[in-house]
Amino acid sequence: MRRKIIAANWKMNMTNDEAEGFLETFLLEVGDEKRVDVVLVPSFTTLAKVSEKLSSVQNVKLGAQNMHWEKPGAFTGEISAEMLRELFVRYVVLGHSERRALFGETDAIVNKKTKAALAATMTPIVCIGETLAERDAGQVETVLETQLRGSLADLTPAQIEDLVLAYEPVWAIGTGRTATPQQAQEAHAFIRKTLAAISDDAIAGKVRIQYGGSVKPANTADLMSQPDIDGALVGGASLEPRGFAEIIQATCGTLG
Ligand code: PEP
Repeated sequence: MRRKIIAANWKMNMTNDEAEGFLETFLLEVGDEKRVDVVLVPSFTTLAKVSEKLSSVQNVKLGAQNMHWEKPGAFTGEISAEMLRELFVRYVVLGHSERRALFGETDAIVNKKTKAALAATMTPIVCIGETLAERDAGQVETVLETQLRGSLADLTPAQIEDLVLAYEPVWAIGTGRTATPQQAQEAHAFIRKTLAAISDDAIAGKVRIQYGGSVKPANTADLMSQPDIDGALVGGASLEPRGFAEIIQATCGTLG
């Protein structure tokens, strides 16, 4: 049984004051809910504040939106795994479609970052997903397989078991257009099949695959009830503390 994981990707949003306000409401709303893993992924400038506020909270973990693969050194503007670990960051989102499309991240770069995150004992959340043009051209499986094999190249089965994947169809991100539960399930089942080919059935059965793309309270239960959907990576709807808590509660409502 895979434990569901719900993560809030705040992207380039929230000042420290706003993050503090979010936490005041959100932590009350989410209470001590422990049936799913909950991760907040704030911007770099709010990580320290959120880390401090979560230091006495057991059931909400911290994630980062990116990191560099190199050890500390001459890499102006970059953030190392060591810097994130110092702030008790447990998860790191890698290969988000915005980073791939706007900042030139390739599968080879995502692969280096994934290896560095694992070496620093952080859990990578590796994002993959097709564009609308690729879906319309019938290339969903080819794109997902290429991104998966490239991003996870040379990882051992044990390393693959330790990561989280996020299927995020680019056409559903921030557009209000969600994949139907069936479209998402189909893609997740394909990703799991590909994982089995890369590692083995047992490992593939353990890896958690989140869905991301316009998840909101109203569509959460249908998506999270799908057999291969193991959680959500939430962008826009995660900026509103009550709404994000509702997504967590709706996910818990799908558990047996
Ligand atoms: C995301 O950016 O990871 C995302 C899924 O965004 P949204 O929920 O706003 O579509």
